Amino acid sequence: MTRFIFITGGVVSSLGKGLASAALGALLQARGFKVRLRKLDPYINVDPGTMSPYQHGEVYVTDDGAETDLDLGHYERFTGVACRQSDNVTTGRIYSDVIAKERRGDYLGATIQVIPHITDAIKNFITSDLTGEDFVLCEIGGTVGDIEGLPFLEAIRQLGNDLGRDRTMYLHLTLMPFIPSVGELKTKPTQHSVKELLSVGIQPDVLLVRADRPIPDAERRKIALFCNVREQAVIPALDVETIYGVPISYHDEGLDDQVCRHFGINAKAPDLSRWIEIRDRILKPEGEVSIAVVGKYTGLIDAYKSLAEALHHGGIANNVRVHMHWMESETFETGNALHHLDGVHGILVPGGFGERGSEGKIAVARFARERRVPYFGICFGMQMAVVEAARNLAGLEGAGSSEFGACKHAVVGLMTEWLRGNELQKRQVGGNLGGTMRLGAYPCVLEKGSRVRDIYRVREISERHRHRYEVNTRYKETLEKAGIRFSGMSPDGVLPEIIEIPDHPWFIGVQFHPELKSKPFDPHPLFKSFIAGAVQQSRLV
Ligand code: GLN
Repeated sequence: MTRFIFITGGVVSSLGKGLASAALGALLQARGFKVRLRKLDPYINVDPGTMSPYQHGEVYVTDDGAETDLDLGHYERFTGVACRQSDNVTTGRIYSDVIAKERRGDYLGATIQVIPHITDAIKNFITSDLTGEDFVLCEIGGTVGDIEGLPFLEAIRQLGNDLGRDRTMYLHLTLMPFIPSVGELKTKPTQHSVKELLSVGIQPDVLLVRADRPIPDAERRKIALFCNVREQAVIPALDVETIYGVPISYHDEGLDDQVCRHFGINAKAPDLSRWIEIRDRILKPEGEVSIAVVGKYTGLIDAYKSLAEALHHGGIANNVRVHMHWMESETFETGNALHHLDGVHGILVPGGFGERGSEGKIAVARFARERRVPYFGICFGMQMAVVEAARNLAGLEGAGSSEFGACKHAVVGLMTEWLRGNELQKRQVGGNLGGTMRLGAYPCVLEKGSRVRDIYRVREISERHRHRYEVNTRYKETLEKAGIRFSGMSPDGVLPEIIEIPDHPWFIGVQFHPELKSKPFDPHPLFKSFIAGAVQQSRLV
């Protein structure tokens, strides 16, 4: 029997609902349950794929090619359960599906309304495509009280009746702000937020209350009384030193006990050894390395969420703390800014789009190559490293990417046709931008004797993609002669997936996004190896 836990948030946004959901998922998993996490986003975009990273942070890509909310990255990192297309939906997607059905005539005769048609579509989404999960944790994006969130709240309210209260639970995340002038944590915002939920017919079963200091018992009792929740079901969620300590801290406060109690389950105690080990390794590193991340959206760390986590995982694997220096690539386009890179132990150029800042990335790739500093180019970072090598190693003057318009040597070009499994994918210049990139998992064969083969220790890998342009194989031979090894190719040999420079301590570019698959308990091999390379470098400088 699948049980559903609905997670809402109140008082303010950015309370860490995604992390809270992921941590609860990890706790239930540690008790031996099979879990799945889902997110319902109230905005009107069909998916976040076309949104600026500054608006929405990273776009997280699943194996099956969905462009999703970054919270799904938390879900995967905490539970190891691979998210699917069916784990994230937006208002835009729900409406566009309902309208398409209406146009087809599927509702013949009916007036299409929010209740029941939109709410039915939402309920259908929540309860579909499950494979024997014990728990589905379903996070509702936004904050209670937002107009846009109403159909989602109505749908989960209805599910409470449809499925029965023994199969559903409502968990509400709120905030107790500390008011310095009176020296108190305040309960009123939580009371109001719960009132807001009650006004749409939802009585929360458990309250998870964020606070920056311990919540006094009297205040906890007060929240319980005013919000009509048992006192033990008011769970303090205090700030912790590392996000990977959250499952332990929630468990200590009794969250998973309360969930089991709500459902009347007598479950074994969770095995938290994995989380304790990770937390201890993070809090007691044996050294540290500095990594420069040179990108375009460095003003918003959420734009590189998975990347930052994957670097931390690389640190966990090597028992070192990873200091990330976020640097704006445009800085490296004027004057002599390269001295900012002096003393870093590794340089990472992440994914990105558009011409702005690209020359800076090319300059940085050159610096890394010539100074023999470990370089990790991801997607756009690989493409810019190839442009750099084409210009400065292969002597192809005017080499560039056709993403920035026509150029003399388009060593990176638009891919108009490729195979996904047996299916031919076709794209054209000027086509739709939404959902049309090379998306999701693709296989890649690693060349014998290459560094990446040594790192992964297998012949074939599968990694996730999100890009429109590819390294142009017309220049493969020229680049190989100049010292670039094409060490990973698509199985049909058509798409370059990995390049490396054999004559360099650590220089690897990958067309895919390895950061999306890294986990704290299973650091990605490339990040583990890159940080090991940075540790080596730190012994030299
Ligand atoms: N802009 C490049 C492309 O579309 C790289 C994309 C990326 O880094 N994710 O191919």
